[in-house]
Amino acid sequence: MASYDVVVAGLGGFGSATAYHLAARGHRVLGLDPHPAGHAFGASHGESRIVRQAYFEGSAYVPLLRRGVELWERLVRDAGEPMLRETGGLFLGRPGTRIFEGSLASARDWDITHEVLDADEVSARFPAFRPPPGTAALYEPRAGVVPPERAVLAHLRLAAAAGAQLRHGQPMLGWEPRGGAVRVHTAAGSVDAGALVLATGRWAPDVLAGLGLPLRVEPRVMHWFAPSGGVAPYEPGRFPLWIWERDDGTAPYGVPALAGAAGGVKASVHRSAVRPAGSWTAQEVARLLGGLLPGLGAEHLRSVECAYTLTPDEHFVVGRHPRVPAVVLACGFSGHGFKFTPVLGEALADLATGAEPAYDLAMFAPGRFAA
Ligand SMILES: Cc1cc2nc3c(=O)[nH]c(=O)nc-3n(C[C@H](O)[C@H](O)[C@H](O)COP(=O)(O)OP(=O)(O)OC[C@H]3O[C@@H](n4cnc5c(N)ncnc54)[C@H](O)[C@@H]3O)c2cc1C
Repeated sequence: MASYDVVVAGLGGFGSATAYHLAARGHRVLGLDPHPAGHAFGASHGESRIVRQAYFEGSAYVPLLRRGVELWERLVRDAGEPMLRETGGLFLGRPGTRIFEGSLASARDWDITHEVLDADEVSARFPAFRPPPGTAALYEPRAGVVPPERAVLAHLRLAAAAGAQLRHGQPMLGWEPRGGAVRVHTAAGSVDAGALVLATGRWAPDVLAGLGLPLRVEPRVMHWFAPSGGVAPYEPGRFPLWIWERDDGTAPYGVPALAGAAGGVKASVHRSAVRPAGSWTAQEVARLLGGLLPGLGAEHLRSVECAYTLTPDEHFVVGRHPRVPAVVLACGFSGHGFKFTPVLGEALADLATGAEPAYDLAMFAPGRFAA
C-alpha cells in the first residue's frame, strides 16, 4: 500500500496552498479532489477576492494578514505571474456600525495606513460614489484583490513541481485512524499517511458528519454590471474595492472593473439582515446600490453562484480533529477566508507535520463549539 507523509483532501483555496507548503518543505504529499483544478463548484472562483488588513472581523486576524501579504508576494515571485493587485479599499457605514468602526479599530490597533473620510470627501476622491449624508468611510490604500482561480492553479502547479501527487477526479471516500496515523480510502484503493488535512469547503458538513460542527452552507451570487456612462470611472486607480454597511445591516460590496468594459463591474451582497443574502437578484442589487453608486447597476451582464460555509461566530475552523490529532481540519471560512489561503496553508502544513504554527490559532479551535 502506498504511503505519504500527508494526504490533503480538497484542492481548492486552502488545500492547494497547504499542498504547496508541504511539498516545498520536502514532504511526500498526495492531494485528492473530485473536481478539475480551478473549478467553479466550490468557493474559490469568480475573478476576485478582497485582501485587506483593516479587519472589522477582529484585530486578532492582523498578524496573519501581515504574513499573508508576504506569502502572496512570494507566490507572485514563485509562480512568475501577477496576483495581488492594490486598488485601495473603502469600508463605509454610519459611525457606530461594525464595518466602519471595526476596520478603524484594527487599523489603529496595528498602525495600518488609513484615512477617515466623510461622505463628501469620498465623492470628491472617487466620483462614482455618492454616499448618503452622515456616512463615514475608512480608506485603506494598500487593500487590493487577488484572482482566486489563478491563485489555486499557481499553488497546485508549484506543489506538483515540488513533487506532490495531485489526483483530480478522485475524491476521498473515507478515512480511519491507524495508531497515530491515518488510512485514507479512495475508489482507486487506500493509502496510509502520517496526517490527513480535510479542506473540503462547502462539502465539509458531509465529510465531517458526526463531529457535530455547526457549519451552515449558504449561497451567494456575484453579479457583474455595465455602468451607465462606461467603466472608466470604475477602473482601478479611480475606484477602490468597497464594503458598505447600510442602516438596515445589509452589507453589499464590490470591486473595480478589473477586465475593462467587457468584464464589467462586480458587486454582491456579503451579509443581509432583512432576507437571505443569496436571494438578491441582479436587479435588486442594482437598486440596493443606487444609494451609494447610482450609475453602477445600469445593465446586468452576468451572475455566478458561490457558497459561504459559515460558523456561528464567523471565525474559521482550523486545528486538529478533537479526537484524532493526525487529522487536521480547515473549513468554516465564513465568506472571508480566501485572503488567508497562503498563510493558513503554511500553518496547516505545520499542524500536519507536528510543527508549532507561528500564530495563535486558538480562536479557530474546532472544539470551541462543544460547550
Ligand atoms: C461569493 C464569494 C465571495 C467571497 N469573497 C471573499 C473575499 O473577497 N475575500 C476573502 O478573503 N474571501 C472571500 N470569500 C471566501 C473565500 O472565497 C472562501 O473562504 C475560500 O475560497 C474557501 O476555500 P476552501 O478551500 O475552503 O473551499 P474550496 O475552494 O471550495 O475547496 C474545497 C475543495 O474540496 C473538494 N472536495 C469536496 N469533497 C471532497 C472529497 N470528498 N475529497 C476530496 N476533495 C473534496 C472540492 O472539490 C473543492 O475543490 C468569498 C466567498 C464567496 C462564495
